Amino acid sequence: MSVTSRPDHEKTAGSGKSNGHAAPPALTVEALFLGPKSENKAFFRERLLAIIEDHIHWRADFNPADAALVSAEDMRAKAFVHTLDRTTEVLEEVSSRLRQSADPWFSTRYLGHMCSDILMVANIAKMSTMLFNPNNCAYEASVATEPMELEVGKDFGRLLGYDADTNWGHITTDGTVANYESLWLARNLKSFPLGVKSACPDLVEGLDEWQLLNLPVAKILDLLDETKKNGTFAKALAASARGRGAGGGKLGKMIVPQTRHYSWEKAADILGIGLDSLENIPVDSLYRIDLEALRAALDDCLAKKIPVLSLISVVGTTEEGAIDDVAAIVKIREEYEKKGLSFYHHIDAAYGGYGRTMFLDEEGNFMPYPELLSRLCELDVEKSGVAFPSETVWSAFRAIPSADSVTIDPHKMGYVPYAAGGISVRDKRILGLVSYSAAYVFDGKDIELNLASVILEGSKSGASAAGVWAAHQLVPQNISGYGQIMARSLGGARHFVKTLETVREFDVAGKTIVCLPLLSEPDFNIVCMAFNYKGNTSLAKMNDFNTKIYAASSYSGGRMYTEDWITSHTVLETASYGNAPLDFIKKFGLPESEWTAVGQVVVLRSCVLHPWMASTPNYPQAWQTYVEIMKDKIERIVADEDLHNATTA
Ligand SMILES: *Cc1c(COP(=O)(O)O)cnc(C)c1O
Repeated sequence: MSVTSRPDHEKTAGSGKSNGHAAPPALTVEALFLGPKSENKAFFRERLLAIIEDHIHWRADFNPADAALVSAEDMRAKAFVHTLDRTTEVLEEVSSRLRQSADPWFSTRYLGHMCSDILMVANIAKMSTMLFNPNNCAYEASVATEPMELEVGKDFGRLLGYDADTNWGHITTDGTVANYESLWLARNLKSFPLGVKSACPDLVEGLDEWQLLNLPVAKILDLLDETKKNGTFAKALAASARGRGAGGGKLGKMIVPQTRHYSWEKAADILGIGLDSLENIPVDSLYRIDLEALRAALDDCLAKKIPVLSLISVVGTTEEGAIDDVAAIVKIREEYEKKGLSFYHHIDAAYGGYGRTMFLDEEGNFMPYPELLSRLCELDVEKSGVAFPSETVWSAFRAIPSADSVTIDPHKMGYVPYAAGGISVRDKRILGLVSYSAAYVFDGKDIELNLASVILEGSKSGASAAGVWAAHQLVPQNISGYGQIMARSLGGARHFVKTLETVREFDVAGKTIVCLPLLSEPDFNIVCMAFNYKGNTSLAKMNDFNTKIYAASSYSGGRMYTEDWITSHTVLETASYGNAPLDFIKKFGLPESEWTAVGQVVVLRSCVLHPWMASTPNYPQAWQTYVEIMKDKIERIVADEDLHNATTA
């Protein structure tokens, strides 16, 4: 039995999993979501009810001769009626709480965190699978859904550009857990040669500790194979970090950009690497890792003979959506490997990973830059005069498969319900370094049958996997499927920025207000911005102003449904961003001394995930409405401030 097979003709990223017929008609984004106004309600309701019916019959038809265990008489009992009444009350309470205060992320007015409407197919698939409650911890607890998880793992590999024969991947609870998993792999891998030295010194004869800690990833995996062949694998593993711990810094530095997600700190803590080993590299004015600073850090490690456990690049930073120059980083890694400094490279593409679908043609090939631009043009996105993505971003996405592993979250840009993160590794031999089989659950033979023996989690939702799987079946992971959604989301974000730049200044309540985006060409779909009083040179005052605007445009104060648009915010501080924000505050006419003195700038942050603002005719009107709403809010804030100043004067 094969739990992962899929017919060969279906194995390209662009297949759309059709069944061998002529090319299917194009998918339209309008039919993929329930919609901001529940436009697709009839279809949604019909499919959901059908699935509930199917489930009810499925139970009843399982060994039909078995007698029912709850009788009509039981159902007339007082306690029975009471129990159902209470159930109804509790469910009504849940519904009431949700309708009072759930975040309205389906709305185009929601421009806050990394969520938006989710694909109908994923939502319905997940809800229906929940009725069956599968546990993807092991094949026998999830015969239907564990294979789905592993097929999605193959999809990840294809969309990230990995070789299908050697790659492996699966769905995690979230990006955080995927990051933990990658560091777990890197830690055990990096320390394995030391274990080999102790278990079978002949295999690494003549190599000193520095050399052992700098073996290239592929060489370490070859060593793993050799120890398996000569029977010293278990002993070597026991003498690696897996048996002996991370060894108080012995494994060296974990290099991350300052823009890293905070899950990396948690990962360093939990896996015994220690926060002291986390080396933060400054970012440049585009919020990408500063390549010169990266080189300087690597030179320093080389000079002091400090190994580097792993380097983390970010594709889609959480605050700015910035995309590190992965192509350059890959070259830097090769260069330092030649100098004797070798390390694991992980890409945290929790947010931006699905962005790669936009760069793939229907055969799954990564498109040359001019072809990409012309395909985007056909989608009516590029034509609008907003050139994106830049060539650097394009080459960063192209270079992704050179990394050893990648985090990619379906529950972000995959538009599927929580909880669905994901990890993809280039060479599945690495799983041997984290494999466990708990005899009480598994028979211990095949990794694919014993999922929990090679991942961080144990019991886990099969419903989440079904949601992602269904989304991947319907929406091809290329320009004609997910790529369309990406293009509309990124195009919408670019247009948002252009609108802000056009507005730039406006008058309210007798004052001139300046509004500027943090980046005029963001790499992805996050738009950060700030407002200031024209002529104000106090950063503290500007921060206070933006904090008030944020409070008037978010649920931070607990008020729901009274806001006309919703944003999130972030604070860019010297401690984590160095001087990267300096250029931005200078654009407002603030002197450098203000930055030195205050050391932080408050910005409003909008993740433009939803695909509705992208079709060209909708742009100007939608963003203009947004700008008008902002003006109203600011007018109230300014009036409040004037009143306050008048009464305290
Ligand atoms: C969101 C995010 C994470 C964490 O993912 P969760 O799914 O929220 O746990 C990690 N890294 C980056 C870059 C992210 O944007």
